[in-house]
Amino acid sequence: MLPPGSTIGILGGGQLGRMLSVAAAQLGYRTHIYAPDSKSVAADVAAHHTQAAWDDEPRLAAFAAASDVVTFEFENVPVDTVRFLSGHVAVRPGVAALEVAQDRLAEKNFVVSVGGRPAPFAPAPDRTALDTAIEMVGTPAILKTVRMGYDGKGQAQLAAPADADAAWDAIGRHPAVLEGFVDFAHEFSVLLVRGIDGEVRYWDSPVNVHGAGILASSSLPAPAAVAGQQDAARALMAEIAEALDYIGVLTGEFFVGAEGPIFNEMAPRVHNSGHWTIEGAVTSQFENHIRAVAGLPLGDTATTALPVVMRNLIGADIAAVPSLLADGRAHVHHYGKAEVRDGRKLGHVTWAGAEPEA
Ligand code: AMP
Repeated sequence: MLPPGSTIGILGGGQLGRMLSVAAAQLGYRTHIYAPDSKSVAADVAAHHTQAAWDDEPRLAAFAAASDVVTFEFENVPVDTVRFLSGHVAVRPGVAALEVAQDRLAEKNFVVSVGGRPAPFAPAPDRTALDTAIEMVGTPAILKTVRMGYDGKGQAQLAAPADADAAWDAIGRHPAVLEGFVDFAHEFSVLLVRGIDGEVRYWDSPVNVHGAGILASSSLPAPAAVAGQQDAARALMAEIAEALDYIGVLTGEFFVGAEGPIFNEMAPRVHNSGHWTIEGAVTSQFENHIRAVAGLPLGDTATTALPVVMRNLIGADIAAVPSLLADGRAHVHHYGKAEVRDGRKLGHVTWAGAEPEA
């Protein structure tokens, strides 16, 4: 158990690191943000900040020496960075989870190996292979880059085989995976936390609605179709967590399929679809992630009030903050980002035990 006053190093400086830092402070810890970006909304609420490149070994070594444990809030931290740090300090979760989650193809193959069912897929490492992949998977389909994709980035839809050239150009001609288009009833996520002793706890699965590939809202209670597939999806995520010897919060995103849950992707970190747990659960995903990496007992994950609605404030949505504040039941979270850009997550708002006024 990490004593109060200890320092938790966090790789990545965005809103997830910001909310992790707030939770860490509540438990008496300090955080140290390490990120290459010039601005960090996590560093604004952290005790220490290192702005340095992911491959700056002297700075990484100094960061490791100043941290009692290290975690990450961004799954595209280079694996070599985490491998280097692991030689100096405990990194939780570890390299294995990061390696799998950074590569869509490796992730899908891994999930199949532990009994999961993704949408039909085929590798498309180059343009020629894409034609073979289309023959195998069919259309409609979605072409996704193997690496660095998030929030719908690096993705292109194919309505028919004739769209292959346009899709290949749209994703920047990077190695990719072709996925069959799933005609799903709903999307939902499994949010779990696994402690240092292997104990696993789950939050209730919210139903998630996306717009243009970006999460728009997460709500509870989820429709019966989601509740009916929650146990099977949880069992898969528990297998994954166990196989990776995972410590911390792990998220799995699923589609409700006709014959059970269809795995979409996983995130080895706290997740946007778990932001509702700050006000809607006994222990938030942020607090339990800190508890797990610090070796503390896990907190209760039960939902405390229904209904729960979490809406993201993306781009120009942030202008709604004054009117949201006028709704006394709305919990407004502003991430403190200076620049408003289309598609950028700038905040979120949660209603717990109340419906949004509008
Ligand atoms: P991803 O970044 O892979 O999570 O994709 C972002 C969003 O695009 C998902 O949450 C879905 O709404 C949609 N999407 C992704 N893959 C598929 C698929 N194979 N079939 C249908 N919709 C998809």
